[in-house]
Amino acid sequence: MKLKNIIKISFIKALYYSGFLKLLHHKNRHKICVLMVHGVMGPDTKTVWSPLRKQLSVKEFDRTLKMLSQHYNFITVQQSIDILSDKIPPIDNALLITFDDGYRNNIDYALPICEKYDIKPVIFVVTNHVNSGLPFWFDRLDYALQQNMGQVLSLTHKDDVYTFDATSRDALVDSYKKFRDICKGKFSDDIELNYLFDSLCDTLEERSGSALKDICHEDDWSAVVSWEILKKLTSDNRIDVASHTQDHLRLDCLIESKILSQLKQSKVCIEKELAVKCDYFCYPNGNYNKLSKQLVKEVGYQAAFSTDVGLCQSKDDLMTLKRFNFPAHKKIPELLFLLNTK
Ligand SMILES: [Zn+2]
Repeated sequence: MKLKNIIKISFIKALYYSGFLKLLHHKNRHKICVLMVHGVMGPDTKTVWSPLRKQLSVKEFDRTLKMLSQHYNFITVQQSIDILSDKIPPIDNALLITFDDGYRNNIDYALPICEKYDIKPVIFVVTNHVNSGLPFWFDRLDYALQQNMGQVLSLTHKDDVYTFDATSRDALVDSYKKFRDICKGKFSDDIELNYLFDSLCDTLEERSGSALKDICHEDDWSAVVSWEILKKLTSDNRIDVASHTQDHLRLDCLIESKILSQLKQSKVCIEKELAVKCDYFCYPNGNYNKLSKQLVKEVGYQAAFSTDVGLCQSKDDLMTLKRFNFPAHKKIPELLFLLNTK
């Protein structure tokens, strides 16, 4: 462990054992902590590959929820919004679990653990992916790159060359991350950006002769949940389902008419498929701007979640609610520090 980290952890431990962190946690008791989870994977995972981004294991998910259950009261998305809009009194140290993207592994692996702790999570689904059952571009490209390991890959799209170092897994993790960061800065139109992803994936899939779409239904990492499963679980009152757009496009990188259709069509689709009200929204990639915020409200969502970090409290803007990344691999002092000092 680096010296800087050792000093930080010692400092956090001192805050914890002096009682300061518990005091701070008590002071924040009327605020709401919202956690964001993506994929959760079990030990007997059915898969033939391993995504480059870090994944959360069921064991770690369970261990962290157990710690959280000793310091928080789990609430639903409806309770959260009712508290934040002063419709019901606050619940001390309330915590909401949210899942982004609608992976099937949320249901197969994470939901049984949630239910152990009486948690009813909200799942933000991307409706066109639930309709098609096709994987997200970030999984598709990740898989396609890993089918071309052992070389430096130079791929051309519209006169630009994109290079990925696939000589080792570590090198590919680095270059894939850099590529994503460059793309986020370079493209202000998400439709254009998606053409790039499709074109790179097509080239790589042609080279290797294999594509994630052919195996994703059997793949626990990338499979998207079906309407059938969502319908059963919502009617059994075990989960809430809300919108994460139709196509997982960044709303601040779209023209107004496209933002509107992403917001409206996904809401209509969820309400039709599940016969529930779709009142909540979550911004893909956490991206929003003044226009998208305003349109989310106009379309009729009661609240929207971002990836801005912090606790939520009454009088916050309901269209940009804050969340924390799921705090895995932490001990109690670090956990309380992280969730109380932002
Ligand atoms: Zn997402």
